[in-house]
Amino acid sequence: MDQKQLEQEVNKRRTFAIISHPDAGKTTITEQMLYFGGVIRSAGTVKAKKSGQFATSDWMEIEKKRGISVTSSVMQFHYRGKDINILDTPGHEDFSEDTYRTLMAVDAAVMVIDSAKGIEPQTKKLFKVVKKRGIPIFTFMNKLDRDGRDPLDLIAELEELLNIEGCAMNWPIGMGKELKGLYDISNNRLELYRKDGDDRFLPLNDEGQLAEHNPIEDEGVYDQALGEVDLIKEAGNKFDLDKIKAGNQTPVFFGSALTNFGVETFLNTFLDMAPAPAEHKEKDSDEVVKPDDPQFSAFVFKIQANMNPNHRDRIAFVRICSGEFVRGMDVTLQRTGKVMRLNNATEFMSDQRETVKTAVAGDIVGLYDTGNFQIGDTIYEGKKSVQFEDLPQFTPEMFMEVQAKNVMKQKSFHKGMQQLVQEGAVQLYKKYTTNDYILGAVGQLQFEVFQFRMKNEYNCDVVMKPIGSRIARWVDPEQLDQSMSSTRNMLVKDLDDKPLFLFENRFAENWFANKYPDVKLTSKL
Ligand code: GDP
Repeated sequence: MDQKQLEQEVNKRRTFAIISHPDAGKTTITEQMLYFGGVIRSAGTVKAKKSGQFATSDWMEIEKKRGISVTSSVMQFHYRGKDINILDTPGHEDFSEDTYRTLMAVDAAVMVIDSAKGIEPQTKKLFKVVKKRGIPIFTFMNKLDRDGRDPLDLIAELEELLNIEGCAMNWPIGMGKELKGLYDISNNRLELYRKDGDDRFLPLNDEGQLAEHNPIEDEGVYDQALGEVDLIKEAGNKFDLDKIKAGNQTPVFFGSALTNFGVETFLNTFLDMAPAPAEHKEKDSDEVVKPDDPQFSAFVFKIQANMNPNHRDRIAFVRICSGEFVRGMDVTLQRTGKVMRLNNATEFMSDQRETVKTAVAGDIVGLYDTGNFQIGDTIYEGKKSVQFEDLPQFTPEMFMEVQAKNVMKQKSFHKGMQQLVQEGAVQLYKKYTTNDYILGAVGQLQFEVFQFRMKNEYNCDVVMKPIGSRIARWVDPEQLDQSMSSTRNMLVKDLDDKPLFLFENRFAENWFANKYPDVKLTSKL
């Protein structure tokens, strides 16, 4: 495509993640969006897939068993002239590393909050990451069809706990059994509850009043809503698109995903405000890569094996940062300098994978991978080398010794281990002298998923022996003397053969630091 077409295509892209505390309604609202996008015929099918009816992969089994969303996935659809990429994020905090990386691949985030619960712990954690990214964040206060908390309280809590300005875009008229509708401030209209079609909207006049008679029978809740709307118009934060774009103000929408109330208005308003693909900074440089730069470039933010048990394949999820992806194109893998041909790629229309036709900056594509890619890799077309910034890696805090239960299964053990480690599912270390395997994770559930997948996908039972919570500290190999290893620490090496100590606790670390004051310990690679 020519430059003008590229710019037009890029400007149509909207790529965002949905974050929430488990059960706030993320899946339900995603379904509604897919429904508007014509990807699914009725809302309710995504969850059905999750519950096993259409189970398409082994790892979904574990989601089913634990009733949580373990892995992040990608869904794409067209809607009102835009090409949308939604990235789902795991709800469980043990997978926050996966979530961090996913958030590196998006240009905006939607935060779903249960209006009966307000800001829950996981919302707070995820919000922090989004805030660090400095991307716009849009809030959906869900479950209005149930009795929830006072909307003014909810916004006050959001501002206080998350330290961001909230700006109400609409306001509930009643709640729970009393729910009558929404006062839509940003579109100056009312949206009635439990009404289909366009006649659910009633225009307001310039004073923000209904011109005609009021169809909302219960005047009490209507008058109260009007009073509150006056109050926030007067005293609330003023809508400020620049602040929103910088992630310093969040537009707040109320609604009910389950009854499909307020979701369409949310989606439309959100898409009007959400940014087109952003530029990406290069590593150790002031240079940025612009999305409409014709040179194709992308980075790998996630690797997933065995998504489909019928095809034992591995997919590297890449975010395109510039240019156009063309099937069969040659790209350079920056880390190795190796040139490879991208023949096999897929996009993600809900759960059916479709072969990519056109993909441009902003899009997420899946590349079938035979073990070439690592998380954080940059790929680019042409001569000019590009390297994007590293993706965040968490320092593990829990460690396990691991081995195959059956020594005859060494081959599948090694294969599974290698693939799952490449996916970033767990971190792998080896004892410095014996080369015994040690796994590191941020949360316990990562180990459980590892064990489950080793058995299910690689037919290998593993035995894991906890060595407890530890503090990992890297040490300069020049300064390392193996006699520094004692009963209070364990000397291991990482995948790059860099040495590190696993200390039992802070006390052991301090003891070491006192004994070897010149040895520098670092918490990151
Ligand atoms: P997730 O864990 O954030 O993906 O949450 P889900 O979308 O799976 O929703 C969790 C539960 O809340 C499910 O039982 C949903 O049916 C329910 N739910 C979601 N949205 C609403 C809503 O707007 N109103 C009510 N009453 N329930 C909802």
